[in-house]
Amino acid sequence: MNCPACAHGDSKVVDSRDSETGEAIRRRRECLACAKRFTTYERVEAQPLFVVKKDGRREEWSRQKILGGLINASKKRDIAQSVLDALVDDVENAVRSRSASEVLSRDIGEMVMERLRMLDQIVYIRFASVYRSFKDVEDMRQTIEDVLSNPPKLQSGAGRRTRRRADDSTGVLDLGK
Ligand SMILES: [Zn+2]
Repeated sequence: MNCPACAHGDSKVVDSRDSETGEAIRRRRECLACAKRFTTYERVEAQPLFVVKKDGRREEWSRQKILGGLINASKKRDIAQSVLDALVDDVENAVRSRSASEVLSRDIGEMVMERLRMLDQIVYIRFASVYRSFKDVEDMRQTIEDVLSNPPKLQSGAGRRTRRRADDSTGVLDLGK
């Protein structure tokens, strides 16, 4: 940050405090060349997040990529884009709340599926078939049977982040906060 008066590049911080909203840090600076004082605001940038893939390669977190997989799996299932957006947001929040700089792609897949399972079982199975890359038909059959034998409403952990509204006949989920 150059001095607004003389464009000198170095300044010292003479005071530092959080802004009223807490989203930025307000810094009072003094130019080291002309001693003019000025104020800067620093905002927190989302930390870079990397996804570690099965083969060990790291890739930058891509919301679009996860969403794309979901959109593919949801074809003809009448699920609003906003519901998928909310699902990806929810997963991203959960991942970022861990404060780690990387996450295994396997973990992301499991988190997505955990939420999908309560949203739409067909989409869940489609997503699982791509994501888990079923080795064979038997593998797929086990996943389907597992869904059938543990329908969402009977799942003990079903209420943790995603909740089906009892009065919602459309089946649209309240993905919560
Ligand atoms: Zn200056």
